[in-house]
Amino acid sequence: MRPKLCLEGLSALTPEVLVAHGLLGIVLDIDNTLTAHGQYTLSPQVADWLARHRQAGTPLFILSNAPPGRVRRIAQELQLPALGLSRKPLPASFRRAAQALGLGPEQVAAVGDQLFTDVLGGNVAGCFTVLVRPISRRERLHTRLLRLLERYILGEPGWPHYPVMPPRE
Ligand SMILES: [Mg+2]
Repeated sequence: MRPKLCLEGLSALTPEVLVAHGLLGIVLDIDNTLTAHGQYTLSPQVADWLARHRQAGTPLFILSNAPPGRVRRIAQELQLPALGLSRKPLPASFRRAAQALGLGPEQVAAVGDQLFTDVLGGNVAGCFTVLVRPISRRERLHTRLLRLLERYILGEPGWPHYPVMPPRE
């Protein structure tokens, strides 16, 4: 259940960080990782982040439990391969995503904002899991309930959730 790395957001997952951990690709969540929940626009920081990885040649794959229509629209706009309704945390979806990039699960960073979908599934699949701070507080009720459990497991109310995360101040 533990992420290998906790980051403030995607911007902190630079090409250099990937190299430092021997990673060759990224499997990416959408809601509250890439965009705010239900939104289609990227923040300038995330757009810059994406541009940096394009320049570095990092292969990226979008893996989301969101409906296929939403996932397809974002994937088309960003010109990235994607799988919607991916049924995370099922590990098969992470393996499929890694395979689509021509990589083994251990060679990809599985990045997301939720412990019970992104981190749990990514860990079982053998990916290098990266937990990012959710972009916004707006979430489905179902997710909000899972957040309560996340807090319990991570041992601290709110973010920073997790002991490997350096204090912000
Ligand atoms: Mg998410």
